[in-house]
Amino acid sequence: KVLCATGIVAGLLAFFWKDPFNAESLSGARVLLTGASAGIGEQMAYHYARFGAEIVLTARREAVLQKVVEKCLTLGAKKVFYIPADMSSPSEPERVVQFAVQKLGGLDYLVLNHIGVTRFQMWAGDVEYTRWLMQVNFFSYAALATAALPTLEKNEGSLVVVSSLTGKIPTPFTTSYSATKFALDGFFSSLRHELIMQKRNISITLCILGLIDTDTALENTRGKVHLTASPAPEAALAIIRGGAMRVQEVFYPWWLQHVCCLWVLFPNNQILQSYYNYSSP
Ligand code: NDP
Repeated sequence: KVLCATGIVAGLLAFFWKDPFNAESLSGARVLLTGASAGIGEQMAYHYARFGAEIVLTARREAVLQKVVEKCLTLGAKKVFYIPADMSSPSEPERVVQFAVQKLGGLDYLVLNHIGVTRFQMWAGDVEYTRWLMQVNFFSYAALATAALPTLEKNEGSLVVVSSLTGKIPTPFTTSYSATKFALDGFFSSLRHELIMQKRNISITLCILGLIDTDTALENTRGKVHLTASPAPEAALAIIRGGAMRVQEVFYPWWLQHVCCLWVLFPNNQILQSYYNYSSP
């Protein structure tokens, strides 16, 4: 009887529940996507293309970007442009936003996803590297967002910021990377308050990701963590859905939200230690 009742409830829920994500809203949406040549960014480019968005892609490697553009066109993107740029250079964010606004006539989404080369190793005292990573992973995000705010405001658009579990919970081997991701949370969560105070209709979605099976992440973490990596195309879709639904935070996989709540309540290193290889740093 219990099984039968559960089945009926599940059936009713499935019948009446409407997915709040409206894929059609992305048809013709104007998107500037960073870190689009590889990994999760590349997968996001393909999803936006399938949804019929108009996209500007950026990363450093021109030849790779060209290939992603070609595939986006075959998948159904309305318009696709690319602009090679190195976000370690402070002048690049404004140039990239200007290019996107000029090509697309405005922006509905700014998706900030790129990261500089990440060392998954113990702190060895290289402050200069940390400064450089801050420029790529944090200051360029602040500068891109600042340059895009006027057009996003005009179009009641969305800012989507890709972060990490290590931007909520400190973990070993990620001193500099974790610092850049905590900085993103501080900056963009504060900015969200100010936009609401000023009644400016721009949503900010911060995306908290666990380990994802991109080439760089798998290479970095091999032999150092006991974690199963989740698929990049699914992570990419979770980010896009969250941005389109204007939610404040996306957790992928979903259970990371509970990990974060647990960590706030019980900041106990013992649990975390079971996921890392403490015997061979
Ligand atoms: P990848 O290393 O696969 O891709 C990084 C992208 O950034 C590439 O397109 C790269 O292209 C670009 N990039 C690198 N350096 C620069 C630079 N100096 N200027 C401009 N662009 C640059 O990263 P992932 O796909 O794994 O990660 C994407 C996002 O997801 C990041 O924000 C990351 O922190 C987050 N994340 C990833 C996790 C994972 O396990 N994969 C876990 C948690 C969060 P190019 O070399 O052509 O410049």
